[in-house]
Amino acid sequence: MSRLVCLLFAAWAWLPLASVAWGAGRPNLVFIFSDDHAYQAISAYQDPRGLLDTPNIDRLAREGMRFDRCLVPNSICGPSRATVLTGKYSHANGFYNNTNSRFDGTQTTFPKLLQAAGYQTAIVGKWHLVSEPTGFDYWEILPGQGVYYNPPMIRNGKPVKHQGYVSDLITDLALAWLRQRDRSKPFLLMCHHKAPHRSWQPNLKYLGHDHDRQYPIPETLFDDYAGRGKAERQQDMTIAKTMTPQDLKLVPPKQLTDEQLQAWNAYYEPRNEAFRKANLQGRDLVRWKYNRYLHDYLGCIKSVDESVGRLLAYLDEAGLAENTLVIYSSDQGFYLGEHGWFDKRWIFEQSLRTPLVVRWPQVTKPGRINDDLVSNLDFAETMLEAAGVPVPSEMQGRSFVPLLKGPTPADWRKSLYYHYYEYPGPHDVARHYGVVTAHYKLVRFYEPQFDYWELFDLEKDPRELTSVYGRPDYAAVQQELHAELGRLRQEFKVPDPDPAETILKPAAKPGPAKAKPKRKQAKG
Ligand code: CA
Repeated sequence: MSRLVCLLFAAWAWLPLASVAWGAGRPNLVFIFSDDHAYQAISAYQDPRGLLDTPNIDRLAREGMRFDRCLVPNSICGPSRATVLTGKYSHANGFYNNTNSRFDGTQTTFPKLLQAAGYQTAIVGKWHLVSEPTGFDYWEILPGQGVYYNPPMIRNGKPVKHQGYVSDLITDLALAWLRQRDRSKPFLLMCHHKAPHRSWQPNLKYLGHDHDRQYPIPETLFDDYAGRGKAERQQDMTIAKTMTPQDLKLVPPKQLTDEQLQAWNAYYEPRNEAFRKANLQGRDLVRWKYNRYLHDYLGCIKSVDESVGRLLAYLDEAGLAENTLVIYSSDQGFYLGEHGWFDKRWIFEQSLRTPLVVRWPQVTKPGRINDDLVSNLDFAETMLEAAGVPVPSEMQGRSFVPLLKGPTPADWRKSLYYHYYEYPGPHDVARHYGVVTAHYKLVRFYEPQFDYWELFDLEKDPRELTSVYGRPDYAAVQQELHAELGRLRQEFKVPDPDPAETILKPAAKPGPAKAKPKRKQAKG
């Protein structure tokens, strides 16, 4: 190679770095967020059941970092979203539950700070925070929970109609915004999926995707909750008892067109007919429900994974991949039959732990796996630091940019505070708080009708089947965890007792007792 060629090559080799450091400058941020996506349903997380392949999310993990201990501080939809936006616990951002909370859009959020720092900001898809989004140049959201088929949406305050499947539409809208953006500025895109939230209605093209597979059942599908307390026994979130005919696709959803209904019936009706004839009982019936549930739930995930693939393909085509931080996560974890459950809410593993995969080519070496304790409390801080925007001191998480760069700082958190509030409420999961460390979990169900503590040794009892609280051989650990819990509650200024705004009325249960006075009123 001649000297001139060598010099030219050296200059060319430096160009991409120079353009990142100066020209292109700040990274773009793509935040892909699904609703109720269990880490067990991402092939990169290697669930022993091998539930399905998610090649596009796996690609992110292969090219970036997979986090194995991303824990949420309050495992339920709205509160998790409020935490992502604010970097704060529910008690600090005011959004405690999905029943009576309303997000105060005047408070500081990371999209607002990015917008003020010159980023273009957009959110498409699930919002679920009651008030309208603030801090976005463009927003197009589903009203409330949204629907899967032909979903109405709200675009910058105005209702719009759409025809098609919700995950595809959200992706189309996200890509359309990316294509028309101002290319002189960096961007934040938040692509928020409705899927795979209950009641798990797949894209019609994925009906039958699993060829009537009988899925391996988790060891705890028939959990009797021995070894734990009243709250675990009296919840209402089992596959056996709680699932409705709508959940189980024994009746079709309302929003389908005639053509869509035909495709729906062509798949479900013969199977439903066989199910009715079989007259299954007991554990056989639970197994049937479990398989139907997984077919539908995983069918939804296929569309989410496809969406990730389309967004990554755009970043490649547009030459943006190198300077874009891509985050894939879910608002919490979810039960896929573990402990007999679906849904979330608990401090226990499958609901506490949420998937997190991050790709940042300039910063993170590909294929890394991280098991430090991180949280969706840290997402705002992380994206702000990545963009070079100062993190407000009021935020309660910590940027995990140092973890993406590696190695882990010595003073990284060793414990995380958790607090769930929505009781009484759907699924009857009692209020509880607790502290989680790498090896242990200390939990308190604190309402008077419960009032007990639990301690789990995650190394010896990873399925969390037997509380060892009060056992003499755990006395020292227990004492340490109590001290740590107290320290965290003080540090984060957790109100005690729970604020009046979190107090909920028991749900009105339909029945003759309620129906009678109504009839009397009508007659009167
Ligand atoms: Ca959720």
